[in-house]
Amino acid sequence: MSKIVRYIAKDGSVFIIAADTSEMVAEMERIHKTSATVTAALGRLITAASMMGDMLKGENDTITLRLNGGGPAGELIAVSDSDGNARATVDNKIIEIPLKDNGKLNVSGAVGNNGQLYVIKDIGMKEPYIGQTPIISGEIAEDITNYFAVSEQTPSVCALGVLVNPDLSVKHAGGFIIQLLPGCEYRVIDIIEKNISLLPPVTSMLEQGFSADEIAKKAMDGIELDKLDESSVCYKCNCSKAKVEEALIGTGIDTLNEMAASEDNTEVECHFCDKRYIFTPDDIKKLIRQASK
Ligand code: ZN
Repeated sequence: MSKIVRYIAKDGSVFIIAADTSEMVAEMERIHKTSATVTAALGRLITAASMMGDMLKGENDTITLRLNGGGPAGELIAVSDSDGNARATVDNKIIEIPLKDNGKLNVSGAVGNNGQLYVIKDIGMKEPYIGQTPIISGEIAEDITNYFAVSEQTPSVCALGVLVNPDLSVKHAGGFIIQLLPGCEYRVIDIIEKNISLLPPVTSMLEQGFSADEIAKKAMDGIELDKLDESSVCYKCNCSKAKVEEALIGTGIDTLNEMAASEDNTEVECHFCDKRYIFTPDDIKKLIRQASK
């Protein structure tokens, strides 16, 4: 199971959430069969979404991260519920671009850095909250950090990492977000800055066998902590026949009439889990009757 942990400093001045999302991202790769660079990009985004989802307060709250930097991958979307269970999709699943000079996957090359990061929080209000910040690097962690600084005025540190095996399966994935809360002393900021400068990349720590809990403690070394909670998270889609029917009805009566008149079945595929929903012309006629009630 993928794991998420949350800690707060005893004096309430700093918060950390850390995640080992290896299994969640592995499942994402099994569903979408993404190339290595796209797995890394989408794996980082779903890890961020899962942590930001876990930070939501309401039971039915959800968060959506949409990222389109004008790169060859197109738009990347990750959605999480408030337990941190998340799903993701991308326009172009296979992008082959050369590694960067340092031998790392070129995530920013696939994502691009000319566009916007949208953070959409549905927290049960009439309208969802939408935060929008420009993509500054396309490496995703920096873009999340920038979002928190600019849109939520919360100084944060975000690190995300995905390690892909030569056979394209996912070896490790994870990340953390540290947030400085109001009243945080310079002394604490100094400790965190020093810790971060010495901290190995997330994937190196996971490779060394660190758990999410151990990553959080290492990043916050020297600060007295209270554990808030620890939970299991997974790749989870919430699509259903009822939701697809609702979406079909939403396309309008003309489109439904066309589908009903056709000899072919109408096939709808979920972008997040690839599940197929098949409707015969008779099924569509039933929907038309339902819609006109
Ligand atoms: Zn689905």
